[in-house]
Amino acid sequence: MKALVKNARAEGLMLTNVPKPAIGPNDVLIEVSKTAICGTDVHIYDWNDWAKRTIPTPMVVGHEYCGVIKEMGSEVKGLKIGARVTGEGHITCGFCRNCRAGRRHLCRETVGVGVNRPGAFAEYLCLPAINVFQLSQGVSDEVASFMDALGNATHTALGFDLVGEDVLITGAGPIGVMAVAICRHVGARHIVVTDINEFRLDLALKCGASRVLNVSNGNATEKLRQLMGELKMSEGFDVGLEMSGVPSAVHSMLETLNVGASVGLLGIPSKPFEINWDLVIFKGLIIKGIYGREMFETWYKMQSMLVGGLQDKIMPVITHRFDVERYEEGFSAMLSGQAGKVVLGWK
Ligand code: NAD
Ligand code: ZN
Repeated sequence: MKALVKNARAEGLMLTNVPKPAIGPNDVLIEVSKTAICGTDVHIYDWNDWAKRTIPTPMVVGHEYCGVIKEMGSEVKGLKIGARVTGEGHITCGFCRNCRAGRRHLCRETVGVGVNRPGAFAEYLCLPAINVFQLSQGVSDEVASFMDALGNATHTALGFDLVGEDVLITGAGPIGVMAVAICRHVGARHIVVTDINEFRLDLALKCGASRVLNVSNGNATEKLRQLMGELKMSEGFDVGLEMSGVPSAVHSMLETLNVGASVGLLGIPSKPFEINWDLVIFKGLIIKGIYGREMFETWYKMQSMLVGGLQDKIMPVITHRFDVERYEEGFSAMLSGQAGKVVLGWK
């Protein structure tokens, strides 16, 4: 079968032929129709330090996809051949205390599809049946292909009461932009988004941001305070969703949050950094780290929101579509920063 493979321990990927995966008794075989490129895939393509440390080669990459079940193992129940599906990219042990308590996203034995085991940028993917998520008719193949990333945004945003609240989102990457649409969908009041990239700030506006702020020049906190004045928000933001991993974004967020506000930290910093703990303590902030998606509550809520109108609201995040043969153009678009989600067609 055709697959996008990291076979040399150097920059790039190769579209090549590899054996079709064999499935075990608890697995399904999914025929992939569409895939989407995640920041993780870009790191693997780019071959940064994390990728060098983490990725064994050769490796079929990719974990954002949609497809149809073609084969099922003998022990698989509750699924059907021909069902349109996507899947959770974190494969968990199922036996540890967290898994058994229904907190599978916190399993210490997590294995990543397209990171630690063969991935979805291929004509066929072998996936444990428990990781399969069945799609409603109302969810398009294209949007289903990046429900994994939408799930990060959903998990972060729905961790807090957003109705009528003023939200600050730092980082308008694909996940930040989708978080904007979710906050709007569930009834937030003002949604302010910061980034240093005009193209992406424009996507945030298209997805429902009240205001966007380019923080590449000047003092971000002062600019945010000025904007808060214009929006007549004297007290500060009620909820902060950190989706950049950049220390200065965290600083300006902590400075402009209201007393008693909540913060979701999704962005992954490249290295440790200091924060002003006084702001956390004296404002009584509640900080929540976010990893992955809740299995599978995030998936059910996300599908329900998509069918209920969120799908239309997030469409601006899809900026590029290519057949897989043109994957190089897809990765170039991602690397340029002038992209939201890039979807690759396999059929
Ligand atoms: P991305 O890298 O595409 O987006 C980050 C954005 O932050 C970019 O648009 C960048 O221009 C912007 N940025 C840079 N400096 C900034 C600043 N000073 N202020 C505000 N914005 C700034 O990433 P993404 O795919 O949208 O993911 C968002 C973040 O979440 C990344 O850090 C990613 O590594 C992380 N992530 C975490 C998880 C998890 O489970 N915790 C899962 C997926 C992604
Ligand atoms: Zn576990």
